Amino acid sequence: GLVLIGGGSGFIGTQLQKTLRKKNYDVIVVSRKPGNHRISWGDLSKSGLPKGTTAVVNLAGQNVLDPMRRWSPGFKQNVWASRVNTTKSLSKAILEAEKKPKVFVSQSGVGFYPPSETTVYTEASSGGSGNFIAELAKDWESAAQLPPESGVRNVIIRSGVVLGRQGGMIKQLYPVFYLGGGGPIGSGRQYFPWIHVQDCVNLFTHAIENDKVSGVINGVAPHIITNAEFSKCFGRAMWRPAFVPLPEFAVNTIFGPDRAIMMLEGQKVVPEKALEFGFEFKFPTIDKACEEMAPLLHRE
Ligand code: NDP
Repeated sequence: GLVLIGGGSGFIGTQLQKTLRKKNYDVIVVSRKPGNHRISWGDLSKSGLPKGTTAVVNLAGQNVLDPMRRWSPGFKQNVWASRVNTTKSLSKAILEAEKKPKVFVSQSGVGFYPPSETTVYTEASSGGSGNFIAELAKDWESAAQLPPESGVRNVIIRSGVVLGRQGGMIKQLYPVFYLGGGGPIGSGRQYFPWIHVQDCVNLFTHAIENDKVSGVINGVAPHIITNAEFSKCFGRAMWRPAFVPLPEFAVNTIFGPDRAIMMLEGQKVVPEKALEFGFEFKFPTIDKACEEMAPLLHRE
């Protein structure tokens, strides 16, 4: 089959491409930059889905937590449009395709659920309001919704923080922890929903390949931890102390309150559906994940 991945050039997309190619899929990426096995967003709206597309995935999205970007109205608009408009373009192309793909798997985030230190969230829980990120997640997910009569299976993966050496949060934190400057963020008591990038990719692949999978799936590991527990574990795996807390006011100053919520508060999210359909996590615990992510120092 041929899988079309919007935003497939990024951290998760690169790993997903590798896994899919190993399984003999052809992959084409929708990107803002030209290249091999790539089409542009303009090509997509002009010419529609590439011939033979059997599955569509969307991973496009301006990096929200870029500390170099001030949280201005323009940047906020970018963050929104890069997710919602790209998803809409893919939905439109799918609906207009003469021969429709079998499945559309779209990314969302656990930011959909309102932060809480007590509520346990499953896929059935409500959310999508109360702060910018939750509202964004709601609009992002609605943009991915295809009418049932289209006959295309719809899957939405609400991911926790995706952990892997190649990108995302770990790549940003690596030098900090390496220099011994790692530690809890804010109180450290906030939940830290997470998933290893390989499990995230396997979940996407599983969603592509299994006709029974549809609707929202929480993309989180079964091991529920707090931010402080994550810092401790990652510090230990790096053989570094991780006692330097990042105070709340600093996070608020650097990122602004809309984004600070993502780091200072968290959600207790259970991967109920993934466990139900028997998904096998390669990295079910944070210790396993940290061990894989920090071998550069003492094993390689
Ligand atoms: P990346 O930051 O690696 O970006 C993914 C791709 O999005 C980029 O390669 C880029 O492709 C495209 N992109 C960036 N900005 C824009 C823009 N303004 N307009 C259109 N396309 C843009 O993301 P990840 O791989 O880490 O994550 C993929 C998706 O999953 C994102 O939407 C992210 O919000 C979401 N997510 C990620 C989590 C994580 O921890 N990493 C957690 C939960 C959700 P190109 O330059 O080729 O156009």
